[in-house]
Amino acid sequence: MTAARRASPLPGLDGLLRHPAAAPLLARHGRAALTGALRAALAERRGRRAFGAAPEEVLGEAAALLDGLFAPRLRPVFNLTGTVLHTNLGRALLPEAAVAAAAEALARPVTLEYDLADGRRGRREAEVAALLCRITGAEAASVVNNNAAALVLLLAALAPGAAVAVSRGELIEIGGSFRLPEIMAAAGARLAEVGTTNRTHAADYEAALGAGAVAVLRVHPSNFAIHGFTAAVRFRELAALAHGRGALALEDLGSGALVDLARFGLPHERMAQESLAEGADVVCFSADKLTGGPQAGILLGRAEPIARLERHPLKRALRLDKARLAALAAVLRLYLEPERLAERLPTLRLLARPGGAIRATAERLRAAFAAFAPEFTVEVADCASRIGSGARPEDLLPSAALRCSGGDGEALAARLRALAVPVIGRIAEGALWLDCRTIEAEAEAALVATLVATLGQTAPDR
Ligand SMILES: *Cc1c(COP(=O)(O)O)cnc(C)c1O
Repeated sequence: MTAARRASPLPGLDGLLRHPAAAPLLARHGRAALTGALRAALAERRGRRAFGAAPEEVLGEAAALLDGLFAPRLRPVFNLTGTVLHTNLGRALLPEAAVAAAAEALARPVTLEYDLADGRRGRREAEVAALLCRITGAEAASVVNNNAAALVLLLAALAPGAAVAVSRGELIEIGGSFRLPEIMAAAGARLAEVGTTNRTHAADYEAALGAGAVAVLRVHPSNFAIHGFTAAVRFRELAALAHGRGALALEDLGSGALVDLARFGLPHERMAQESLAEGADVVCFSADKLTGGPQAGILLGRAEPIARLERHPLKRALRLDKARLAALAAVLRLYLEPERLAERLPTLRLLARPGGAIRATAERLRAAFAAFAPEFTVEVADCASRIGSGARPEDLLPSAALRCSGGDGEALAARLRALAVPVIGRIAEGALWLDCRTIEAEAEAALVATLVATLGQTAPDR
């Protein structure tokens, strides 16, 4: 055989498309997608000089490429990490009513910016803003893409090119891409650092205001706490100080809350209402942390500064889409009936879930996990859940988990991640922990079904 002959035999594209094995792929994905995948498969073979393939082999490779292309990367998982508002897993889970409202807004024409009463253009945020004002007593409200966007808009509109005083103890970084000094710079405000990491006094803010700062900004420390020799200025005092100098008092609450969580037996998280009562001109927070809504940033405050935000060109760039507005309105409506909130808002329901119910779930799930991981000791054990997303980072909620010990925890975690619906746990103290707080009845049934389906497939090999 000559070199030339050995190098040539990769099947041609036309032949591959006409091959009987191509028919089901053509039927499923169409000619354009299959042609693209075949070209890629052939190019890949040429690249590694893997000539001489049968048509079936190349078609098989193209099919694998198509499978990869059409498999969604955004997949549902079971969150057994013990972190209820897990940023990497999408934070708050929305109530059915909000999901339905969002789906309807996506699929059908809706009155997004349309006033049915007079048949004219309406304000797209009217309902959400009215609900927010009713719940919190704020004069005005605005919503944007997320809390980072809220902060950018706040600073760009209210302190363009001007100094804003922030305590050195509050110059936070959240999840790498959110660093307060960088956000401020991007918004076009100047950071006037005041005080020290552990202690900041009224005189520190006074000096910055005397030097021309147009606002003071308080930032929730979110993911850390400072203990020991510390001092901070109470927000009420800080706001009075700013107002005395004709400056604005602003607060980034991070998670924030619209109800007193202590009512539900949870650690109290600073509420937007408290910030406003203590003199905040504008307060901002995330809608998808303890508020339990879709991703959004909520801005509340006095009518005048909120009107300035609304007029700023960035507002248009950062605005919410109809699906999230619909979902947010549905979530906010639940707050109008606070007695039923803990049962209807999933975030609150999961956080306030009684320990006994979590333990009972763990006990019911134990057998299914023990069968899935027979080489492990699977026991029901006490553990501690976290709220997550920077809300009360030091407060833990007593919970119950399945502790899988006596084997390679990392390997078991990988096997659970490879399930049809992946199960995400947490490795600690040499064991894999599966916190059952977030597994309510419906998820429990689905989780058992996922585990059992796998056993059916793999049992003969064991
Ligand atoms: C979470 C958080 C943010 C960012 O909020 P996103 O909604 O994720 O943009 C900003 N500031 C503080 C204090 C936070 O905790």
